[in-house]
Amino acid sequence: MTKLDQIRAAESTLLLTTYERFPVLFTHGEGVHIIDENGDRYLDLLSGIGVNALGYSSPVIENAIAEQSRKLIHTSNLFYHEGQAELALRLTERSGLDRVFFANTGTEAWEGALKLARAHAGLLRSEGKTIGTKFLALEQSFHGRTIGSVSTTHKAKYREPFGPVMPGVEFIRFNDVADLRAKFSTDVCGILVEAIQGEGGIRSLTQEFFDEARALASSTGALLIVDEIQAGLGRTGKWFAFQHYGILPDVITVAKPIAGGIPLGAVLCTDEAARAIHAGMHGTTFGGGPLACAVAIAVIDHIEKTNLLAHATEVGDYFQAQLRSLATRHSAIVDVRGKGLMLAAELDSADLAKEVVNQMLKRQIIINCTSDTVLRFLPPYILERSHVDTAIAALDEILAEHAGAVTASQSNAQTAGGPTHV
Ligand SMILES: *Cc1c(COP(=O)(O)O)cnc(C)c1O
Repeated sequence: MTKLDQIRAAESTLLLTTYERFPVLFTHGEGVHIIDENGDRYLDLLSGIGVNALGYSSPVIENAIAEQSRKLIHTSNLFYHEGQAELALRLTERSGLDRVFFANTGTEAWEGALKLARAHAGLLRSEGKTIGTKFLALEQSFHGRTIGSVSTTHKAKYREPFGPVMPGVEFIRFNDVADLRAKFSTDVCGILVEAIQGEGGIRSLTQEFFDEARALASSTGALLIVDEIQAGLGRTGKWFAFQHYGILPDVITVAKPIAGGIPLGAVLCTDEAARAIHAGMHGTTFGGGPLACAVAIAVIDHIEKTNLLAHATEVGDYFQAQLRSLATRHSAIVDVRGKGLMLAAELDSADLAKEVVNQMLKRQIIINCTSDTVLRFLPPYILERSHVDTAIAALDEILAEHAGAVTASQSNAQTAGGPTHV
């Protein structure tokens, strides 16, 4: 039995079966490559679902962890440490928002944002305004796995087995301004969006929809809350995806790449929204600990110092152009979209999408498939054009083989029942 087989057997009886894992056992990584137990190197175009922004074995991250771990790993939020204000300053300067609450994960940040909207509406009511407790979320949205987050997540499979989920959430058809207008009222305390939906298939809000959401929220004091957990912190070539639209949300959430693989999430908000929170209302034991903050500061400073936003734009544009050119050669690709290094190629079949992911893995290239038919690319920001070329060549081959197989099976079907031939 190989080590992988042993682990698979053990996990199959010891763990909840939440994931169907790919049969690979990774042991270490280097740059854009992650390496398995046999020493095989995989080009990672998924980066741990958008987390490993600086790739693997980054000395920036290693040094920050080593240095901080020798000083202080955890204090609780009952005391001051050096990291939170330093990191909050970096996040507020880059986002235009005023204040930060640190959590541990994406979903925990999102829960914080939902609670903030409810508390803010309560404050407005106490000041005599008419505002309710309802949330408007979008179809195809994804906001995490805890109860509040699944309540605002559209896909039924994430929500329904756990019902009754939090009531008071209504879903708007994606980018449908008329639907948004029809469902918005003074009952609403928050409009919830991703500027670019991740799990939902790399779909961008239209300028018109985002503008309307901003205007409607402002008209009643409801909060416009943007989930930047996947798109934020540089992936799209700007610090935050909402910045492509020239609007300012009231609240945003960030997590995935913020501390280069160490768990950390954050809620950022305006001073106006922050009026709703006072000491003792919300909290976390681990969130914003000294270790995670030190690493996040190092990650942000490194992105800035090495101009990785411009790099993500440049290599991302190249990647997208190559995918478009691939689409001209393969009719199975029905759409190519995204911004910076948050990219997708939508295929005409879910079976094919699954097959392409598996074939890529055989060629030691990691991508994934979301929304059934969408190949998703979330590579580390340090990706180079040569890596893009490797991935495109592999996709080209796989899609050509598939097209060949389809043609062969069609001609077999045509001759079925006719004279046998080889
Ligand atoms: C991943 C993700 C989340 C959830 O983050 P976790 O850290 O897994 O809890 C929420 N929103 C978006 C847009 C995400 O991509």
